[in-house]
Amino acid sequence: MEPQVTGMTKRRWLVAAGIAAAAAAALSAQAPAQPDWPKVEEETMRHYQAVLRLDTRNPPGNEHIVAEYVKKVLDADGIPSQIVGSDMNRPNLIARLKGNGRKRPLLIMGHSDVVTVDDAKWKFPPFSATRDGGYVYGRGTVDDKDNLTGSLMTMLLLKRLKVPLDRDVIFVSESGEEGSTGVGIGYLVKEHFADIDAEYCLAEGGGVTRIGGGVKYATVQTLEKMPRGIELVAHGISGHGSVPLKSNAIVHLAGAVAKIGDWRPEIRFNETTGTYFRKLASISPPEVAKYYRDVLSTDPKVQKAADDWLFENEPRHSSMLRTSVSPNIFTGGYRSNVIPSEAKATLDVRALPDENPAKFLEQVKRVVNDPAVDVRFTGQNERPAGPDARLDSEAYKALEAAGTRIYNTATLPTMSTGATDMAQLRAKGVQCFGIGPATDMEDGPKGFGAHSDQERLLESELHRFVRFNYDVVFNLASSR
Ligand SMILES: [Zn+2]
Repeated sequence: MEPQVTGMTKRRWLVAAGIAAAAAAALSAQAPAQPDWPKVEEETMRHYQAVLRLDTRNPPGNEHIVAEYVKKVLDADGIPSQIVGSDMNRPNLIARLKGNGRKRPLLIMGHSDVVTVDDAKWKFPPFSATRDGGYVYGRGTVDDKDNLTGSLMTMLLLKRLKVPLDRDVIFVSESGEEGSTGVGIGYLVKEHFADIDAEYCLAEGGGVTRIGGGVKYATVQTLEKMPRGIELVAHGISGHGSVPLKSNAIVHLAGAVAKIGDWRPEIRFNETTGTYFRKLASISPPEVAKYYRDVLSTDPKVQKAADDWLFENEPRHSSMLRTSVSPNIFTGGYRSNVIPSEAKATLDVRALPDENPAKFLEQVKRVVNDPAVDVRFTGQNERPAGPDARLDSEAYKALEAAGTRIYNTATLPTMSTGATDMAQLRAKGVQCFGIGPATDMEDGPKGFGAHSDQERLLESELHRFVRFNYDVVFNLASSR
């Protein structure tokens, strides 16, 4: 997945002395049956390193090696599981702990594949899971063998502590997340939905942000934008380049793209983004909090000024406000002395979950306003739309409470601008929440984030994440 970066700079946070960490609320939720944490940490590290050392770079994936390892671990504790897939080199694993059925199941998920690596760029070999200076280094440390390990440990703890469950807890080791969802979530939803169907799902996509070594806030992804590509095709008359024509397709296309570039579609908030900006304002230094508050203003002038600032300084936040459009491919012409009859541009459109595609296409046509330019959906890389996870749900409340209990911090619901595998589950009615361990905001720009040439996670944060994961699942699934 794409790393969650809010766009705030470290400096802004550092100058903001005495920010209230929010998390003062007293806690009423039931404390989990207490595992022997030092022993759990030793085992967590063992499984984490073991799966990191299994080379599941995708392509080709080879996720069967993770599925087999996980199955052995589950078998040893008597947790039933099945390995299923359309390609037996790339299967998924599904395990289930039975509850009494009073509530619908909870699904916890991590993906077993990782993106490819440029071996030469790694200080420690990418599949070595080297421990150094309090970190574990390796491809997959934060995407997504952290979630995989956290979910696995939670299953083991629930089983060993004989926690009585009000709902089944389903664990999925998912293949193909990094660009080949046909063998992973696509296959699971199509062929095994009954085995993974759940009221709630926890997967990747959120996390806890540390700045200057301290926890600042937690994020839980509760919805995501929908990729909806649009292409502009300009048609003109071809001819000799020595005789310029008014109908030149490249000129028409350039004009259309320029209009799109100047256009920012209307701002629209949903429950998640409205809550996100409100809460972010409440925990941010005053000089930036102003923009988060102003962008929510009903005064168009105030909102516009904040929108301009965000677009310039925190583009991810700007994208969260609206259906966004970015022209990313521009093609036309094949030799300098021929006026081409066609030119084409591709727009990366990331639609708000409630966007009406047909209406939006009409808007784009009005902005382009040129009969020589056709505007149409590409139909590529689309994901199904589904409702967002509810902030008043038992699951969100459990996540928020665990954020306070384990991290002593406030939780912000987020809408990711990129797509995740949760889209397929949301489209089936599963309420999905993206979670993750705490990472330093400084780590991404230094090249230690997901998909970069050095990926790493603090050992202490791996262990804290396991406690968080267990806390949430315990409070959501155990019988009270
Ligand atoms: Zn991922």
